[in-house]
Amino acid sequence: TTPFIQRPTRIQVDLDAISHNLRAIGDHVRVPVMPIVKANAYGHGLVAVARHLVAQGTGQLGVAFVEEGIALRQAGITVPILVLGGIFGPQVAQFLEHDLEITVSSLDKLRQVEAAAQAMNRKAVIHLKVDTGMERIGVHSESAAPLIEAAVASRWCMVKGVYSHLACSDDPRSAMTQLQLERFLETCAHFERIGAPMPIRHLANSGGVLHFPETWLDMVRPGIITYGVLPGDSARPPFELRPALSLVSQVVYFKVVKAGRTVSYGATWMAPHDTRIVTVPIGYGDGYSRALSSSASSSRGEVLIRGERHPIVGRVCMDQFMVDLGPQGSAWNEDEVVLIGHQGGDAIACEDVARWAETIPYEVLVGLNERIPREYR
Ligand code: PLP
Repeated sequence: TTPFIQRPTRIQVDLDAISHNLRAIGDHVRVPVMPIVKANAYGHGLVAVARHLVAQGTGQLGVAFVEEGIALRQAGITVPILVLGGIFGPQVAQFLEHDLEITVSSLDKLRQVEAAAQAMNRKAVIHLKVDTGMERIGVHSESAAPLIEAAVASRWCMVKGVYSHLACSDDPRSAMTQLQLERFLETCAHFERIGAPMPIRHLANSGGVLHFPETWLDMVRPGIITYGVLPGDSARPPFELRPALSLVSQVVYFKVVKAGRTVSYGATWMAPHDTRIVTVPIGYGDGYSRALSSSASSSRGEVLIRGERHPIVGRVCMDQFMVDLGPQGSAWNEDEVVLIGHQGGDAIACEDVARWAETIPYEVLVGLNERIPREYR
């Protein structure tokens, strides 16, 4: 039989770039690193990235949901895994069954965990989550004392960590981080007041790693910089980061469009002169945002073909979009199209795509879905 050829649209993940970023983060902070691999490792592929990180010496991983932790266990990953998300009572037994570390953020939740642990005759490993300013999940720092006391006294829980999450650390000038750090340290001091051993204190996300050394404490939890992408665009990183993800496709159709004809749904873009248009087989059904469509008056998204930048014209469709090469532009069917990454001497960063789509790099990366095959090199 004919060998199956995958669609020409691919995500290429440079695992050496991830190794480099992991090493650079570790050398910079000099405390243990818990890389965050939630949301399919920020679009890079959960299991492949987690296996690679562990092979590089990573001693613990963080995910958002218990399902992600179970997927890692089923793939044979044995390092400690912390589930960062809030627990949903009926799922608590699954954490214990799969040896996943639990985020506990209230007395109620602690009681749920204790009940499940007792029923399974197994001690739960927990991290207490303190809210210092996100107002997402976590016990307010000023009312954390009863939770800390109950958790420390619990027969069924081992308090391994205490943590909080920074709301504004991507901005090195924001005063919010200092305020959150103060609230967090004040909460941690309660362990000392009651004579309990201090658990692992962790606070820094990528922004904390880059801009706020005082937040590193006993462990850091970088997500997006592990993949070589900055959390915000306000400051230069203190060490080199290498983007790991490229998004490439190939030309599937070439045509000349006459002046005055319109392109794509809604007929929002009209050729101002005879021009050469190519079609690229990826669209919002793959997570390549429809916000990259051109508006009536200007283009937004761009791609690289034959080492040159060309604008997306008309609306991005579910599975395809069109690119204007101009009256003199040339391209052939099957030419490579780079949507994120390098081609020739030029490059399109994930941050560029985010700016064009008026979103953040996080959303660009995690939006790229399972329809796109991933290749690792
Ligand atoms: N820690 C927690 C609790 C998170 O929710 C996240 C992600 O949102 C991270 C760490 C990693 O964040 P970042 O990708 O900004 O480093």
